[in-house]
Amino acid sequence: MTPGLDPTASRGLSPPALAVDLHMHTTTSDGHAPLADMIAQAERLDLSGMGVSDHVRSDTDWVPEYVRAVRSARRLAALPVRCGVEAKILDTRGRLDLPHALAGVDYVLVADHRVPALDGPLHPADVRSAIDRGELPAAAVVDALIEATVRALESSPLPAIIAHLFSVLPKCGLTETAVGKEHLNRLAATCRRTASAVEINEKWRCPSSRVVRMLARQGVLLTAGSDAHAPAEVARWSYVRAVVDDLAAAA
Ligand SMILES: [Zn+2]
Ligand SMILES: [Zn+2]
Repeated sequence: MTPGLDPTASRGLSPPALAVDLHMHTTTSDGHAPLADMIAQAERLDLSGMGVSDHVRSDTDWVPEYVRAVRSARRLAALPVRCGVEAKILDTRGRLDLPHALAGVDYVLVADHRVPALDGPLHPADVRSAIDRGELPAAAVVDALIEATVRALESSPLPAIIAHLFSVLPKCGLTETAVGKEHLNRLAATCRRTASAVEINEKWRCPSSRVVRMLARQGVLLTAGSDAHAPAEVARWSYVRAVVDDLAAAA
């Protein structure tokens, strides 16, 4: 198993560990609480692992300091604390909005905050208007997203977890029904080949049970992420628990 993800993911139809939350933000990016408060909450909940995943961009210069802070907090914490970052997919070549200095970072959450196109990310509102005007077929949006995600996993310098898979689709006026079996097969094969994981995300309530089931059946690693921006949101599963229950029922 990819060292950056272990012991945080489970394979196949066994549900992801709800006792591990790998997606949370601190005041280092847009979270409302410092790292110490997020760790304290994970300890209160008796989690068996956690990861912080603050937002980075290519010009982010605080990663070394962030890694040092996580390392020193880790020494005192009652649970394993992973150091992650969240970065958006920029284009269909799979470029990620990551800085160069990533030493000590355990994993990257690969995020569909925008729609990756050939020349860079498009704002979902613009994509939605283009679809409404009949200038852009919905299928092309899904094709671009899958192409970009596959390439991002293939070229990622860090162990990767796909964050809130397909969260960008509703922002473009689309649903997961636009995602075909071939798309999911390609994604699953790439995840397996690159030992990447797919997150079930509480905040964005995605991906759907149908998608999670298909990926799980194909042996894709699954993780749970709250996308907490405050201690009260850490590992507060409602959507994720429902999807995991569906998965268990289907097993
Ligand atoms: Zn995100
Ligand atoms: Zn996030």
